[in-house]
Formats: sequence, C-alpha cells, structure tokens
Amino acid sequence: MSKREKIDYKEIIRNLEIKSGDIVLLTSNLTFLAYDAAVNKEVFDENFILDTVISKLGSTGTLLLPVYNWDFCHGVTFDYKNTQSKTGHLGNLALKRDDFKRTKNPIYSFAVWGKDKDYLCSIDPVISLGKDSVFGYLHRVNAKNVVLDVDISDHYTICHYVEQVHGVPYRYNKYFKADYIDEYGNKSRKTYSMSVRYLELDVTSDTQIMYEELLKQNIAYERHIGHHVISYINMGDSVPVMEKDVLENNAVGQAQYKGQFEKKLPLNEEMYKIIKELFPINRSLSGNGNRDTLKYIKENYLGELNIKEYSIKDNPETFDWKTPYEWNINDAYIEDENGNKIIDFKKNNLHILGYSEPVDITIPFSELDNHLYSLENDIDAVPYTTSYYKKRWGFCLSHKQREELRKNPDKLYHVVIDSSINENGSITYGELVINGYTDDEILISTYICHPSMTNDNLSGIAAAVAAAKYIYALLERKYTYRIIFIPETIGALIYLKENITHLQKYVKVGFVLSCIGDNGDYSCVHTPYNNTYTDKIVTHVLKYITDNPKEYSYLERGSDERQFCAPLVNLPVCTLSRTKFAKFKEYHTSNDNLDFVTAAGIGGGIDYICQCINILENNEYYKIKTIGEPQLGKYGLYPTISQKGSAAYTRNMTNIIAYLNGKNSILDIAEILNMKFTDVLETIKKLKENNLIYII
Ligand code: ZN
Repeated sequence: MSKREKIDYKEIIRNLEIKSGDIVLLTSNLTFLAYDAAVNKEVFDENFILDTVISKLGSTGTLLLPVYNWDFCHGVTFDYKNTQSKTGHLGNLALKRDDFKRTKNPIYSFAVWGKDKDYLCSIDPVISLGKDSVFGYLHRVNAKNVVLDVDISDHYTICHYVEQVHGVPYRYNKYFKADYIDEYGNKSRKTYSMSVRYLELDVTSDTQIMYEELLKQNIAYERHIGHHVISYINMGDSVPVMEKDVLENNAVGQAQYKGQFEKKLPLNEEMYKIIKELFPINRSLSGNGNRDTLKYIKENYLGELNIKEYSIKDNPETFDWKTPYEWNINDAYIEDENGNKIIDFKKNNLHILGYSEPVDITIPFSELDNHLYSLENDIDAVPYTTSYYKKRWGFCLSHKQREELRKNPDKLYHVVIDSSINENGSITYGELVINGYTDDEILISTYICHPSMTNDNLSGIAAAVAAAKYIYALLERKYTYRIIFIPETIGALIYLKENITHLQKYVKVGFVLSCIGDNGDYSCVHTPYNNTYTDKIVTHVLKYITDNPKEYSYLERGSDERQFCAPLVNLPVCTLSRTKFAKFKEYHTSNDNLDFVTAAGIGGGIDYICQCINILENNEYYKIKTIGEPQLGKYGLYPTISQKGSAAYTRNMTNIIAYLNGKNSILDIAEILNMKFTDVLETIKKLKENNLIYII
C-alpha cells in the first residue's frame, strides 16, 4: 500500500489562487478535505473554508456558491428561506449564514457574498439560463470558477447558458409554474423557464471535450495536490469557445445526443423559415390566426412574449374608432353545379374578402359577380381585400378567372362562407419587454393582421423577431426595448389606449417594421417634421446601407406611424422598409408570395434595424483629456511606417479627436466627417483603451 502524503486541508484552502477583488464561483465537494482532517485527527471546520475565501477576496470581491434545486420543475413549492441546495454541502452552509444572501431564481439560485450581492439578489429573470440571469453576469464579468474536487465535466453549468442563448437542437425552453414563497414569506404562483433536453434524443451533457479545449487554450488550468484536483476557469473567456462549439460544431464538445442535426441556419435563413411557416395562417384584425401566429413566435423564438387579449365587449370604442368584432373563418368556397370547387379559401386564404359574413346560398353568376373582387390591371393576381366596418361577404379572384366565368352569367354556383363574427370576442396582440439598465425605451412595432403575404407583412414579423434576438444577445443594454406585434391601425390605437402615458414618458426612439424583406432599395418614412433622434439615426444608416436610399416624408405615411406620430400622441417613430408599401406591384396581391421575399432580402432588412440598434446602444458623448492634440505616437496610434491608406487613417483619427469636445455624440461626429458610425466607433474604442478620452 502506498503511503499517502499527509495533507493539511487548511493549507489547501489558504493556498487557493484567489486574489483581492476577484469574482469567484466556488464549486466544491468536501469529502477529501474532511478525510484529510480525519487523518490528521482534526475537527473539520467548514466555516473556515468560507471565511478564508472571503478574507482573500477582500471588500471588493464577490463570492458565489451554487445552491441549485430542480424541484420547482416538478411543481414543488420553492421556499426562498428553506429550500435546500442539491449541489453541495457548502452552499447549504452559506445559506444559513447572515453574511450570504440567496439569489431569486428557484431553480438556479446562488448563495452570494460581497460587493455584487445586492445587485445579484435583485435580478429575477423568467428565463433561468438567459442573458439576464446570474450566468449572464458570470459571463460579463469573466468570473473565475474555482472547482475543488469536483468532476467539472458534469458541473460546468454555464454551458447550458450558452445552449440557451444560442438555441441548440437537442434542448428546448420549457416553462414551469409552481408556488414561490419569497424572502418575506409571501406566497405567489410564479413561472420560470429552463432549457431542458429532448428526452427521445437521449442527451447526456458531458463537457469533458470542452474542458480539455479550455485547458489547451489556457482559459482553464489545474493544480494537483495529493488526491486533490483544483481547477480554475475564466468563465467569460470560456463562453466564446463554447459558442464556437455550439454554432459551428453541433456542440460535440459539451453534449452527446442521438441522431444528426441540421447545421444551425444562418439568421436570414432562419427568419425566412418563420415567414414560410407562418405563411399559410389566415390572419386578420382579430381571430385565431393571430393567436396561432403569436403562439408560434412565443413557442419557437420569444419565450417571454406576452400574448394579450383586448376585450371587445368591454371596449366597444377605442378612442374615435369602433372596435371591430372578432372574426373567425373555418372554410369558404364557391362550387359549380357539378360540385367542383372553382374558388377555395383552403387553397389560398386571399380568396376571401376579410371579415366576410357567413353565407350559404346558390345564385347565378350574374348575382355572384357583385361579390367578387379582381384587378383589371394585373389579371393573374388575386387581390387582398377586406371590409372591416361594413357588413359584406365576398371573394377575391384573378381577373382572368372572372372574365372566364362571366361568359356564363346564368350558371348557378353554390357559395359557402363558414365564418363567425363575435361581439364578445377580443383582439389579440403580443408584447415583449426586454429590460435595459436605463428606463428609456425603444419601441419596435410590427403588425400581424395580413393573411398569406410575405413582404406585407410577414417580413415585419420576422425582422422584429430577429431584432429581439439581437437585443437579447447584447452583453449590456442601455435601453429597454418594447417590441409589439399588433393588428395595424386598431392594434396601434389599442396599444396607445393602454400605454400612452408610459410611452410618452419613456419612448426615446421608435420604429415600425413594414415591407422589409424584398430585394428592393432601403427606405423609410420620416416623422412629421423629420427632426427627431430616430430620423437622424435612420438617415445615417440608410446612407451607408445602400447607394440609393429612399427617404419618404410623413406625407407618404401609411402604416402605424400614422397613429404613433398623430398630433396628440407625438412619439418619435419612423417606418423602416425595403420597398415601401404600395410602391411595389406585388403589394396586396397573391404575388407578394414566398418567391417575392428571399432570405437575402430579409437578411438586409434585419441588418437595417440592427444597425439602428447598434447606434442607439453605442452613441455616447466623449471628451478628450489632453490640452492640445495628444501625441499619438506615444500610444502606438500613429503608424510608424507609411503605407497606402495610413495617412487617411491618421487623418480620420485626428479629425475625430478634433471634435471630441463632449458636446458632439459619436453620431454627430460621423455626420460632420461624413464617416460611417461604426468606423468612428472603432477609433473611439482605441482612444478609450488608451485612456485618452472619457465619457460625458
Ligand atoms: Zn398592407
């Protein structure tokens, strides 16, 4: 039997590589340490471990211990004060101490000590493993995971955060509802989500391959002392490595599962998929098609989307408008005497006049013709037509077909519309609020009231989902984003009725997304006076995104900017489009189909809105610190050899510095110098790194 070296467990703890000011996540198994104490006939003091780590961290450090418990997912009440950790003894000990406090999430909670304790214990996101969770914090601050005698391949939980943020094919976001007793003893029913495995895929999460990669890249290192293994991992630095694995390598470094998965689609193709999948649904101002559309978005992309119902019975009027009744339709067709369906709603929902009353009659064509709608100047297209406020029934068809039918005016047709109009129904809309660190808000609005057409309006829905994904992925958010999916006009009025005071107080910039997925030129509709911050941002983005931007004045308005910019509302909202509504010939016809919008087209639209968001998040006021020009060479900012382009580079940098008086924003400087915002931003970052400027 080999002789074991005698180990002083206190020495192990004293020698942990933790310094003052560190942010440490301590993952531990105390078995070996307790064994050492027993061998040395010492009393094993667990509090010594916490006290020693705390004293090493000092007043500027933060210590977190995992105190996870998954019972909430099985409907068991979470009791903030009494629910025990299932991940280690030390966490339970910390929960008993007055100097530690528990974070709020009932599944992945932490016992926290130190500087960031109050912040960490104040956050309470629904998505347990999302960007706004403690894991997002550990990523942002590049916390150090100190792993004491634990096999990390089973316990590197932040890998599930990466899986959640990027979406992996073997997991999905599931919502759990159970009772929650908060720190003050108040009981309520709460909902939290967790990323869970698809059972049929037999998924195991083993991060061994990933961990070895982290060791190889010096993002993690190990110390071996006797039978102890202590790992140190820079958690923030490990995230990009895991992201690469998830995005490019089917996550083989961190999970094993049955079957092969399609490679994750690029964003534009994924958003085109949304358009394709939502295309067959019949939408209108109200009804089940709108609910199905929002449900699809919530279940597949935006789990925190709030689907709201506005009761028509309680709100017969919305400001100056009569609230339309809820309309639903199951089927509609016209059949000839032989039972052949010559027009069938189930083949193309544009065939029905929106809000048609129910009907079941047999009439000659001469009479039926009064209820038909077609386009004389585009004879193959089926037009999109609605009659929201006057009670009618009708069908839309190609002019070519209509002319053909007109040849037999006496022929009889059986007309069926199986629809319902419900005065007690509701109007459905979706709202997603993504919090930032200021109360200032950005409104992004799109509509959900058009049936099977792509540019108008599925492209707006897809671009809004992509914008939300982009916003979620920002490491830090200055603004709070309010993204709404509403029926056009009446939905905007409903939303204003419910939120106008809040919107007028907090919304600083707003966008309506409409017709943003075709391959035409980029355009916008400005606010009434073209004088808001929104107008300025949009004009700048348009200038660089295309050679041929089209800026329309408010006199060419047509979407929900009509309500948001109305005199007594007065929100700073511009409409973003590629080819604006009514400016393309496929508009409001069956030719606005899955060929008209493309992945590249919607990709451009997504880029357009995301560039606007990027400016919003980064546009700050900076001031130069030096009196006179700084000597750039001293900071390595002046090229020492003259190369092609280096003179222009230096000139741009000195020009930017020339305007850094604290009164010009980055966007102002970009406009003054006729440079792209992102190019100016890059220089600003360099000046900041060299401590030459400061934010005002
Ligand atoms: Zn339209």
